Amino acid sequence: MRAVAVRRGESGPQLVDVPKPDPESGEALVRTLRVGIDGTDHEVIEGTHGGFPDGSDYQILGHEAVGVVADPNGTRFEAGDLVVPTVRRPAGEPNDYFARGEPDVAPDGTYLERGIVGAHGYMAEFFTSPAEFLVPVPDEFSETGFLVEPVSNSEKAIEYADASRSPFEWQPKSALVLGNGPLGLLTLAMLVNRDDFERTYCLGRRDRPDPTIDIIEELGATYVDSRETSVSEVANVHEPMDFVYEATGYAPHAFETIRALAPNGVAALLGIPGDHTFEIDGGDLHRELVLQNKALLGSVNSNVRHFEAAKESLAAFPDWFTEKLVTGVYPPENAEKAFETGDGVIKTVVEFDTL
Ligand code: NAP
Ligand code: BGC
Ligand code: ZN
Repeated sequence: MRAVAVRRGESGPQLVDVPKPDPESGEALVRTLRVGIDGTDHEVIEGTHGGFPDGSDYQILGHEAVGVVADPNGTRFEAGDLVVPTVRRPAGEPNDYFARGEPDVAPDGTYLERGIVGAHGYMAEFFTSPAEFLVPVPDEFSETGFLVEPVSNSEKAIEYADASRSPFEWQPKSALVLGNGPLGLLTLAMLVNRDDFERTYCLGRRDRPDPTIDIIEELGATYVDSRETSVSEVANVHEPMDFVYEATGYAPHAFETIRALAPNGVAALLGIPGDHTFEIDGGDLHRELVLQNKALLGSVNSNVRHFEAAKESLAAFPDWFTEKLVTGVYPPENAEKAFETGDGVIKTVVEFDTL
């Protein structure tokens, strides 16, 4: 079957011919419809994040998928069910994190990530998965369902941020998203849909006209250009932010965010930077965190509960938003094109089949 993979020693995706997988006991066989591409896939290809499956000289890419059950193989599914797979799998023996349904908080070394960390991804005509890691989605999601996974990552981060402020009366009004890539824009749409955030902002580094700025403004948010207003200056130029969501992967933002927060504010860091050495006034930022009851938290991955929440968020997005977000749909033969970046590109998808 056709698959899109990166080979050891190479730094670009290519079409490969691999055997069609056979489902083992407890696994279903899924016919892939669409697989989305995000910043992490580029980090995998560049070799700055994740790693190849043991003993394999290639890695099938892709962790954001939607597909149709082709062979339920005795699992709870029926042939024809539309499903979205989760990303993490146990490394070796199943462990307590997976047994509790919380693989997203499993420490490094106890998990693999399909298409990212030591396991093949979903960018192939078929994939298999244990049924417990397949989330059923409605048929209306056949084109957009690959967005459930990235949205679920934000469901988790926002849940953690809310939870960190739950011991006291916290009434957030302002939110800032750092990054106008697909994760930033999806999260901005989620925050705009909440009743509490009256004012939302999104930071990028693009000149107008730009499709991401158009989306930011059409969502009713304010575009902040980091070349004019740094994250440290946002509180003075705009307003102190009750919530900041970092999705640039630009390491200084993790720290400058402390300055952008309002007293009692919270920031969730999602970006995955490479090594990056820079100077900060640690004492100043430490003092600010403590004396203003601010919180910074890191958040990665998500579990089935977050996938379920993401289904609702995705269903609530206006059609124009997902239409403008997805700037390219390519067959696997054109996968190289799907991985191209540029100012006109937001979210691209490799499409193997339709419902
Ligand atoms: P992406 O496509 O690389 O988006 C990052 C965006 O940030 C880009 O649009 C980029 O602008 C912008 N940016 C970078 N540095 C900036 C700066 N100094 N000022 C203003 N804007 C800046 O990646 P993504 O798919 O949206 O994901 C974002 C990050 O989150 C990545 O690091 C990814 O690996 C990570 N991630 C983490 C999780 C998790 O569970 N923790 C889940 C998904 C993704 P330009 O396009 O103009 O360069
Ligand atoms: C994926 C997550 C994964 C994270 C770290 C993200 O792009 O969506 O599922 O845990 O990268 O590898
Ligand atoms: Zn991702």
